[in-house]
Amino acid sequence: MANDNDDIRRRIRTIPDFPKPGILFRDITTLLLDAEGLRLTIERMAEKVEGKIDLVAGIEARGFLFGAALAVKLGTGVLLIRKDGKLPGATIAEDYALEYGTDRIAIHADACAPGARVLLVDDLIATGGTARAAVRLLRKAGAEVTQAAFVVDLPELGGADALRGEGIAVNALVA
Ligand code: AMP
Repeated sequence: MANDNDDIRRRIRTIPDFPKPGILFRDITTLLLDAEGLRLTIERMAEKVEGKIDLVAGIEARGFLFGAALAVKLGTGVLLIRKDGKLPGATIAEDYALEYGTDRIAIHADACAPGARVLLVDDLIATGGTARAAVRLLRKAGAEVTQAAFVVDLPELGGADALRGEGIAVNALVA
């Protein structure tokens, strides 16, 4: 049924034990390959956006694809949140915890104007570690971040609830 986005859910493939044993990997490449699936995804992500947005921020790498398409639909530009070390200009960065160790994401220091209303986008939210670090980073840059959009939420991992706890309205099409 279109109501619960089953038409999107069935276009996402689940691959067990990738990248390591015990992980059920939600593979959105099958959704991206499907013209109607991609169109529906962007349309429904756009429908959930509230109020005016100045910029969409996509998280490397799959968040770039949905983020850029959504930005075109919303009439905004797109800001890249990259793994540290990839951006050529002056950056600001934020660390976040992984299961073992830490990782770091970065944006160009001049990527957004203070007070810009930024919508955060990624393909999937699991523990929320990546998205929460992205919110801290965007806020450090002066952005106003109040909404985040994902194609998939894995609610049992608690990431969406943790993000809501930081004042973010979280929308996902498929849980
Ligand atoms: P997290 O920081 O735990 O919320 O993880 C989110 C990031 O990891 C997203 O950029 C996802 O693309 C990726 N990810 C985490 N778990 C999965 C999964 N089960 N299937 C596909 N991608 C995942």
